[in-house]
Amino acid sequence: MNWYKLEEQEVTSSVGTNIEKGLTEKEVDKRLKKYGENKLDEGKRPSALFVFLGQFKDFMVLVLLAATFISGMLGEYIDAITIMIIVLLNGILGFVQERKAEKSLDALKELSAPQMQVLRQGEWKKVLSAHVVPGDIVKISSGDRIGADLRLLETNGLRIEESSLTGESVPVQKQQHLLNCEHAELGDQSNMAFMGTLVTQGSGIGVVVGTGMKTEMGKIAHLLQSTTTLVTPLQRRLEQLGKILIAVALVLTALVVIIGVVQGHDVYTMILSGVSLAVAAIPEGLPAIVTVALALGVQRMIKRKAIVRKLPAVETLGCASVICSDKTGTLTQNKMTVTHAWSGGKLWEITGGGYEPSGTFIQNGKKVEPTSDRKLQQLLSYGWLCNNANLLEKTVKQGMLRKQVTEYVIDGDPTEGALVVASMKAGYTKKGLDKHFSRVLEFPFDSGRKMMSVIVKDQKGRSYVITKGAPDVVLERCNKLVYGINEEALTSRRRTEVEGVIDQLAGSALRTIAIAYRPLHDKEVCKQPFEAERGLTFIGLQGMIDPPRPEVKDSIIECRQAGIKTVMITGDHKITAAAIANQLGILSKKGKVLDGQALSKMSVAELEEVVDDVDVYARVSPEHKLKIVKALQAKGHIVAMTGDGVNDAPAIKAANIGIAMGITGTDVAKEASSLILSDDNFATIKAAIKEGRNIYENIRKFIRYMMASNVGEILVMLFAMILGMPLPLVAIQILWINLVTDGLPAMALGMDQAEGDVMKRSPRSPNEGVFARGLTWKILSRGFMIGVVTLAAFWVTLQADPSDLTRAQTVAFVTLVMAQLIHVFDCRSEYSVYHRNPFENRYLVGAVFISTLLMLAVIYYPPLQTVFHTVALNGHEWLLVLAMASIPTVVLGGFQLLRKK
Ligand code: ATP
Repeated sequence: MNWYKLEEQEVTSSVGTNIEKGLTEKEVDKRLKKYGENKLDEGKRPSALFVFLGQFKDFMVLVLLAATFISGMLGEYIDAITIMIIVLLNGILGFVQERKAEKSLDALKELSAPQMQVLRQGEWKKVLSAHVVPGDIVKISSGDRIGADLRLLETNGLRIEESSLTGESVPVQKQQHLLNCEHAELGDQSNMAFMGTLVTQGSGIGVVVGTGMKTEMGKIAHLLQSTTTLVTPLQRRLEQLGKILIAVALVLTALVVIIGVVQGHDVYTMILSGVSLAVAAIPEGLPAIVTVALALGVQRMIKRKAIVRKLPAVETLGCASVICSDKTGTLTQNKMTVTHAWSGGKLWEITGGGYEPSGTFIQNGKKVEPTSDRKLQQLLSYGWLCNNANLLEKTVKQGMLRKQVTEYVIDGDPTEGALVVASMKAGYTKKGLDKHFSRVLEFPFDSGRKMMSVIVKDQKGRSYVITKGAPDVVLERCNKLVYGINEEALTSRRRTEVEGVIDQLAGSALRTIAIAYRPLHDKEVCKQPFEAERGLTFIGLQGMIDPPRPEVKDSIIECRQAGIKTVMITGDHKITAAAIANQLGILSKKGKVLDGQALSKMSVAELEEVVDDVDVYARVSPEHKLKIVKALQAKGHIVAMTGDGVNDAPAIKAANIGIAMGITGTDVAKEASSLILSDDNFATIKAAIKEGRNIYENIRKFIRYMMASNVGEILVMLFAMILGMPLPLVAIQILWINLVTDGLPAMALGMDQAEGDVMKRSPRSPNEGVFARGLTWKILSRGFMIGVVTLAAFWVTLQADPSDLTRAQTVAFVTLVMAQLIHVFDCRSEYSVYHRNPFENRYLVGAVFISTLLMLAVIYYPPLQTVFHTVALNGHEWLLVLAMASIPTVVLGGFQLLRKK
């Protein structure tokens, strides 16, 4: 269908929709069934069976299965079947872990799924793009990634970048009229907007004419399909390390086998033990278990309102040394209330909090009627005319008695909402203003220009430009001002007076907005903002409060203790910014406030010189953010940078951790980010950093546990062979330990709580290896001790009764298991087992409990005794086991503690 050739009417009737009301929910359901969800087909996923079989593709597991098969052929049925079952259980465990990780990553994808604004049953609402159907009326605006193919019905300075479709990177101007031509290429269909393209400027309304695979993007979707999953740097490093560890484990195992054979052990038994040892000691699951730990951590982050878009960010979070945060909405509540108005030498205070449109005007300490001053009226009413926000009244039930109360909410920009409320306090209504003025054109606000303008026509047909914006910027565009009842030239004396008022309001942490206007000549047309926003007459100022978020101050202190500096970046006035930074404790005694003007003049190198001293950047444009990121990075910082608009995207991308706002953020900012704050709150960044540090520590914890256990297992066998002893463990026991003793507690460590001081240490260096901070020593020394005590227990029991090898082996088996299960609690702390409450992590307590129970079953339940070659232990033997098993952790840890003290 060539939608671009059709009139608006033809389009809407052929897709069956109503421009005023949109579709009904019932109709949407029907269409969803008919056309399917608005999604591009993704590449096929590997099936569950494939993932399951993948668990057994490891070389050593295959060798073990082959050896088991041979032992089965030789008549060792019980051994063979048990080994098969253990291998199978191991596979199932791996499969479950992998699925769990996949699921939580899927849930993540869903959380950051794109949304669109649609008109349904006469109301605008946001819905998931996937649930948009042909015939939906949708609104698009700057920063949106368009979610379906649209025929445009209304445009307002709309420009769209269509490079993903046409390859053309310069944004194209769009309009809503039909094209009178035989054929137009995609790039020329100026009244269409396509799925996957990006709104760079302006806004528009369109009707959906194609969804899912029926869109232009759908036609080329097969070109876009990619199934690569992102691997984090840590996973990559561990994969490399894994290869080395495999080699080491294989060499040591071979050594065990060779020495054992030389010492006169049976070749077949030695090979089966060797292969089992290799399977147990090779940390083949390391990268997989890291994925699980990352996925679990990511789920915890979701609960704390931080949505991770790129998995590597989880690691980088722990390295962050500077957070550059937007002020409005992130550090502050973005709940604006106008408290002061100034015009022509007079200052009014306006009472009333929040968005409730009632309050009084006070001048020189006395209540006055707002209608008593024409210029004040002009200031307040023009503030509403140049405005897109609406005040909505909602009735909600509150408290125990479910009392009905009216709640006021702003639909739109809170800054504009505050102006609406101030205007209402003076008695203005939307209806009343609409009767006198109609809007002809709008030049939307953008944070580069820091102004918004409209052109309105009054009842007599006269047109005006009304501009509102940052006072210093607006003042530059003015040559007159209203003063008293007159308008006069903006002399330098008057300019200084106005600037004094701006500074005074800003000094009280108020955000200031100036209002100005200009009557247009009869035939004057303004196509560009700069044509309208000049030669203006300054009407006055409105100052509004935006209270800091209460939890932010503590978060900033916590970050400081964690060696992370917080920097405020804002488009607001220097003095306002400094005042709020002071309230929040961001501005240090020697800290500097740098403004956009100064920043523009500096090169990155010059900024680098001072960047460490700057706490606040004020009146910046989004472009400045990139410069700040670069200078900080050049100084060796790992930078987290927040942003919401289209122009913030380059800085978000360049930062080590790009953070987008979930509520106010545009699609473009979100796509560039690696983390989304679903509540826009600074405190969430802190929570995410804490979680990021914790996840990394948890990964270190289970690497430590698994490797120390493996070292213990190998050494006990190796030492026994070197010393010419009998085999201390049989193959099946080794495999059991690998499955039950190593598997469950390691997973529980992945879910461990953060150690008390994670936010008191300085950020980790990104170059730091996993084994830094003494981890290698901890693994080797504890692993060595576990091996030695196991062997000692084995030897003592064997000495007591050299004829009962099974008993000695059972003691060795239980000692090894218990030593590991005690050691797992040591792994929770960077310091020692005595530094943390062992019952804090209930998953771990549960895992240790289950592992112990299963081990008891293996040694006391007769059928399992046969399978696992064990006997029941008596009280003396248990004493020996527990004494030995506690040496590596409890006793040595205690010594260490005493020595430190
Ligand atoms: P942040 O702190 O999140 O970087 P900001 O809200 O402080 O953002 P901008 O939104 O760029 O920064 O606003 C900069 C200035 O522009 C404000 O101080 C205000 O004077 C003015 N301004 C803000 N919103 C509007 C608007 N909707 N219309 C006109 N002027 C505005």
